[in-house]
Amino acid sequence: DGQETIPSDAIREEYENLSDLIRKYRFAYYQEDEPLVSDAEFDTLFRRLEEIEALHPELVSNDSPTQEVGGEVSAAFAAVEHLQRMYSLEDVFSLEELEAWLNRAEAGIAKLGNGTARAAWLTELKIDGLAVNLLYRDGKLVRAATRGDGTTGEDITHNVLTIKEIPQELTGDGFPAEMEVRGEVFIPSKAFAEFNEALIEAGKAPLANPRNAAAGSLRQKDPAETAKRPLKMFVHGIGAREGLQARSQSETYALLKEWGLPVSPYFEVLESRADVLAFIAKYGEQRHKLLHEIDGIVIKVDDFGTQRALGYTTRVPRWAVAYKYPPEEVHTKLLDIQVNV
Ligand code: NAD
Repeated sequence: DGQETIPSDAIREEYENLSDLIRKYRFAYYQEDEPLVSDAEFDTLFRRLEEIEALHPELVSNDSPTQEVGGEVSAAFAAVEHLQRMYSLEDVFSLEELEAWLNRAEAGIAKLGNGTARAAWLTELKIDGLAVNLLYRDGKLVRAATRGDGTTGEDITHNVLTIKEIPQELTGDGFPAEMEVRGEVFIPSKAFAEFNEALIEAGKAPLANPRNAAAGSLRQKDPAETAKRPLKMFVHGIGAREGLQARSQSETYALLKEWGLPVSPYFEVLESRADVLAFIAKYGEQRHKLLHEIDGIVIKVDDFGTQRALGYTTRVPRWAVAYKYPPEEVHTKLLDIQVNV
């Protein structure tokens, strides 16, 4: 960590330019579903902004990109308030950074000393799709929204209703009267390749990547268009949950599965750091053979009491972290071009 110094004019200028550029790239990515740069490039810029802020905290304002969950509400959709806020994830880009994060988190958990702290990590794949928030009232799906800025999202209920896998009515009983289920909507890799092949055959431009294809599909004006896209979803979180009888995220997944919601087959609850690292290595090797594209691994504290005690920053939970695999150049057979993933 560097020492704090008074920012020079050059640093101030770099900071302002970088903030503007990040806002512009976020707008293209979240609002237009058409990124102007690769994720790796974006991440590098974001990192640099965080670095400047660490050295010059007086530059940080409430509307700095680091203080906000990227994404806004487009005028094309009705705005909806989430019952509970939605967050982004803190990223780490190397195993060293992950170790440092785990050290900090474990020290934080040890300090809680409340006896409820279980050292179990819920490890999941970081699905490259679009976050959605499903609101169930008395077991009925009444609303679906994008994450937006975390507080307010876009109403995409009519489009989500076309995804067969998302139950419009929960099965079984015992669910909370009001429950927000968060998950990632994505296009499976194989379906994405087939969909693109069909577009090319029809003389149309193929979609750039599954993430933007999923996002673009869900943010269609016409649900009939959304219905044509091969969308799937896996749950990865829960918001409002009054009365939910579960002590941990993994217990919640078991319940959500019973109620008919799509839970990923890939998650594990791991007790040791060595197991977490092995999980990362395993999926690093298999990443292109999975049902869907991933851009990393998400590691979460499983226990709800500990999650609550660790809490949140303005942008991310302190009880979870996303490990991003190093960017790689792959050769896609389909498009026969070099793409960054
Ligand atoms: P993020 O994608 O790094 O992490 C948060 C999101 O991960 C969640 O909102 C959720 O939607 C998703 N997610 C997937 N699997 C999950 C799981 N198992 N558990 C929990 N969440 C899961 O953060 P972000 O704020 O959405 O976006 C930042 C990222 O988006 C950047 O790292 C960058 O790569 C990309 N981005 C790219 C551009 C660009 O121009 N290329 C612009 C903006 C953002």
